Amino acid sequence: MFWYDHSEKRILPWKSNKNPYQIWLSEIILQQTRVEQGTPYFLRFVERYPSITDLANAPDDDVMKLWQGLGYYARARNMLLTARQIRDEFDGVFPDSYDKIYQLKGIGDYTASAISSFAFDLPYAVLDGNVFRVLSRYFGIETPIDSSEGKKIFKALSHKHLDRKRPADYNQAIMDFGATICKPQLPFCLSCPLSDNCQARAKNIVSSLPQKTKKLKKRDRYFYYFVWKGPDAKTLVRKRADKDIWKGLYDFPLFETNELLKDLNLSNLWESDTWKSLVPNTPKGELSIKFSRTYIQLSTHQKIIAIFVEISGKVPSLSTLENEYKIISLSELKQLALPKTIQKYLETDLFPIG
Ligand code: SF4
Repeated sequence: MFWYDHSEKRILPWKSNKNPYQIWLSEIILQQTRVEQGTPYFLRFVERYPSITDLANAPDDDVMKLWQGLGYYARARNMLLTARQIRDEFDGVFPDSYDKIYQLKGIGDYTASAISSFAFDLPYAVLDGNVFRVLSRYFGIETPIDSSEGKKIFKALSHKHLDRKRPADYNQAIMDFGATICKPQLPFCLSCPLSDNCQARAKNIVSSLPQKTKKLKKRDRYFYYFVWKGPDAKTLVRKRADKDIWKGLYDFPLFETNELLKDLNLSNLWESDTWKSLVPNTPKGELSIKFSRTYIQLSTHQKIIAIFVEISGKVPSLSTLENEYKIISLSELKQLALPKTIQKYLETDLFPIG
């Protein structure tokens, strides 16, 4: 705490008050996003939806559009569910106990502890990546942080060392210390105020801590998008409804494979159900078709490799289409919430958006 009290604090907009709605919002936005990237989003959300009831009453598409570019859209969907739960079950007033906060949809131990301590000064220690790193190094703990044993050890340790008189400051201090001094790469051990008692430093194992058991292997997914480029600047889209990546966002008609289609097996595209449902009677040879370059988007578990198959010509008539599709104009397309890959493609390739 001495270090925190005498260090230069990071000025962050959600730190300036104890508003639980704003603290919760910042925690959701920052879950998989850097502070520099998340801050403008936080400010836009607070301006557009000043209270949790305003957010709860917002149409899904508006919220997804405002979230566009942050990725991990399940966060936005869960955020809306939680806001509506608080509106409906708590009269729009954020609950003020750990147990009630923890019961909310989409809120786990970390977020419940953060809101309890930062908004209500309750004695709950937070455990995020920064805290795991500082504790594992300072105490020289080699138990993997993602094992059930490791979770118990670090939970008990963080709770034991929490400053019960100043839980909010303690939590902020240890997170800031991990973000600025005990960093993942090249920590400032030489100037670190804890270095004399740091076990990882004494055992020369700083760079190998914290340990993890799981090594995630990313799944490759190839997305072939059929994009109509009609002379009237109309195209075909659908809202993603399946329990999958980008749920609630809009994309083009899609054919997915596990591997890149080479020249010889491109016929798979024209044999696909997606293609056949769109143009059942038009031989592919009668259409002018061009392939885009590949676009890659990474998430925690998957690698999306997208290729846009551009079709010059009029969009198929709606009567032949399945209900899930709709024909829209370019100006309407710009208003929709889109995955980052599609946004990038639109800006650079298809219809450069000014
Ligand atoms: S001495 Fe290095 S590893 Fe130990 S707590 Fe300080 S910065 Fe972290």
